[in-house]
Amino acid sequence: MSWPGLKRVLTVLERAVRLRCPHCGLGPVMRHWFKMRDRCGNCGLAIERGERDYFIGSMLFNLVVSEMLFAIVFVAVMLIAWPNVPWDTLQWAAPIGMLAAPFVLFPFSKLAWLGFDILLRPVTPDELEP
Ligand SMILES: [Zn+2]
Repeated sequence: MSWPGLKRVLTVLERAVRLRCPHCGLGPVMRHWFKMRDRCGNCGLAIERGERDYFIGSMLFNLVVSEMLFAIVFVAVMLIAWPNVPWDTLQWAAPIGMLAAPFVLFPFSKLAWLGFDILLRPVTPDELEP
C-alpha cells in the first residue's frame, strides 16, 4: 500500500465539503441531509463499501471534528474578546453549538470518511455500478 499524496487528500476533502462523490467528484450522493443514497448517481460507487458498521468510523470522525471545532471557536472567542470575555453568552451558546455541530457536519463527515477509505483502499471496477 502506498500513501496518497497531499493533492489527492485535499481533493477528497474538497469533494466532501462540496457534498460530492469522493471518487468522481459529481453525484448526487445524498437523499437528504441525514440519508445518503446507496450509490453515487454518476459513477455508481456504493456509498457503503460492504462491511457491517462501516460508518461507525465516520461517526467517530464527526464527533472529533465537532469537538475540535468547538475548542477552536471557544479559544478564538476568548482571545478576541479578552479581557471582556462574554461568559454569559458562552455559557448557553457553547452547549448549543456542541449539540448542533454533529448534525450539521453529518454528511460532510460521512463523505470525508468514504474519501479517506478510497484513498487507502482504491475503488475496484466491480464496486462501480452504472
Ligand atoms: Zn461518483
